[in-house]
Amino acid sequence: MMLMQQTLILNASTEPLTFVPVKRALVLLLKEKAEIVETHVSKRIRTEKKEFPYPLVIRLVHYVEIPRRFRALVSNAVLFARDHHTCQYCGRHKHDLKKKERLTREHVKPISRGGVDTWENVTTACSTCNHKKSDKLPYEARMYPKTTPFEPRYIALVLLSESIDEKQRPYIEPFVKTAFRTCR
Ligand SMILES: [Zn+2]
Repeated sequence: MMLMQQTLILNASTEPLTFVPVKRALVLLLKEKAEIVETHVSKRIRTEKKEFPYPLVIRLVHYVEIPRRFRALVSNAVLFARDHHTCQYCGRHKHDLKKKERLTREHVKPISRGGVDTWENVTTACSTCNHKKSDKLPYEARMYPKTTPFEPRYIALVLLSESIDEKQRPYIEPFVKTAFRTCR
């Protein structure tokens, strides 16, 4: 049996939001809450009475705000990917680390100093830099992360883990580049 291709939903602003099962996408289309952007070249959806083009990308008619609770929790796997597996202090890639060194989650404002475990306060640091910075604030240690920490978008997390259709990719990638931006 062939795997059902999921449908990519874009916000009214064309920003990619999430993937849903194709049947869910059809419901949104039939209720005119969304419109078709891309369809599969050959696949069709059949119901008892009708046949529909297979929606690969749809766009919501009205803009939706994304509630806080749908945002991703901090995890080292995504954090390191966000920071391109590179220590944000010394600039070394994980492949350049010495045998006993490793990448770690570093709190820019240390927990002991009132910092919190949020995307905006965590950065990737090699164990040596993390140890050196210790519980100091950036200006005390004179160590500033090369990129300003930010929260990765949900869609970026999907890209990190799952394969997507070639027709869906162009709708996601420009936003991933924005999300994974370097701003210093
Ligand atoms: Zn380092």
